Amino acid sequence: MTDNSQQYNLGLRAFLDGSPTPFHAVKSMTRLLEAAGFTALDESEQWALKPGTKHFVTRNGSSIIAFVVGSESLGKSGMRLAGAHTDSPCLMVKPLPEINKAGYFQLGVEVYGGALLNPWFDRDLSIAGRVVYRDADKQLKQTMVDFERPVAMIPSLAIHLDREANAGRTVNAQTDIPPLLMLAPKGSKATDFRALLAETFLPAKAEVLDFELCLYDTQPAAMVGLKEEFLASARLDNLLSCYVATQALLAADGTNTSLVVCNDHEEVGSVSAIGADGPFLEAVIERIVQAEGSSQQNAVLDRSLMISCDNAHAAHPNFSDKHDGTHMPVLNGGPVIKVNVKQRYATTSLTASLFRQLCSDVNVPVQTFVSRSDLGCGSTIGPITSSRLGVPTLDVGIPQLAMHSCRELTGSEDGQRLSHVLEAFFNRSGNLAIEVE
Ligand SMILES: [Zn+2]
Repeated sequence: MTDNSQQYNLGLRAFLDGSPTPFHAVKSMTRLLEAAGFTALDESEQWALKPGTKHFVTRNGSSIIAFVVGSESLGKSGMRLAGAHTDSPCLMVKPLPEINKAGYFQLGVEVYGGALLNPWFDRDLSIAGRVVYRDADKQLKQTMVDFERPVAMIPSLAIHLDREANAGRTVNAQTDIPPLLMLAPKGSKATDFRALLAETFLPAKAEVLDFELCLYDTQPAAMVGLKEEFLASARLDNLLSCYVATQALLAADGTNTSLVVCNDHEEVGSVSAIGADGPFLEAVIERIVQAEGSSQQNAVLDRSLMISCDNAHAAHPNFSDKHDGTHMPVLNGGPVIKVNVKQRYATTSLTASLFRQLCSDVNVPVQTFVSRSDLGCGSTIGPITSSRLGVPTLDVGIPQLAMHSCRELTGSEDGQRLSHVLEAFFNRSGNLAIEVE
């Protein structure tokens, strides 16, 4: 690794560690943006947008759009859009979570998204998220919380008590995974989780009303491998893309209007006010187009391109038959163009070719993924955004292993590479359309 990519990965690891929930991820992104001169906009106010200004706007504290108003007219160059998602599969605390069983105080949890459940066992877990409360003056307030230290664990059942464990242990999401928080001997006072939260995080006399809280593994992101060619962390899908796209926007030269959207709720289908299937991006684009005042939104979108970034499956050496034999992305092999004829990915030959050109311009290798013809295919925000807006779109992703585990693995080089490609995309001048012969 070069000094430069080491530096990049240090920033990336701090971002991953500081973003245990979508709320924290958005906060981490706003910190990076504010440090670079981006200012916050409020959707309920008038926006004064001028060429050269840089802004961000959030919804629900868990989705964010950041953009640079370019000096080039929208009618000429359209917009350069990049997208990712802030949420990751995890365990979330149920609304009435208290369980007292066999001498322990445990929490009822619900599985968010398509989580691999086995990796959650035997981890030093913490809890973070958003809490809404009523203060001593009866005012409603919200705050972000994070225990920051291991406060919970889901112990495995010993193999002596289940001799078939290695042959095919399944995980029941209701009964097998409530984490242990503390001892609760018979006759001891019942624990009230809301009171516990108030006591830990809130001012005196505050009363917790509701919350969205995620469990997370406290093990920090780390460089792994004999030559440190790998980066292991929780939430690489898809905070890696959030970071990569943000870094590219921070480096953009401001010629073209460039925008990064990071939506919550991708892992549960994107249908929400703040998800990619909601109106957030369209509303912000409309205001940017209106502020310029000289271009038609449809014409602008027609000249724009959306690069949807969401990690791709690298081929796993122990399970390589799960991949199509000629499409086997490897870690540190460069970003992956994702193709699916059923439109689970929005890539076309036009958008893919443009991406190949961008990669070649900045000397970055590029790979291609298509799933086995006899296997289903995941999806992402690309096709949703594309069908909502009608904007030409491309699905790409950094290759990774162990997707949806609470500890995922990626290469040490590919994040910075994709940042370079996206930066080149934001800075590419003129019309992106490919000429018809
Ligand atoms: Zn994803």
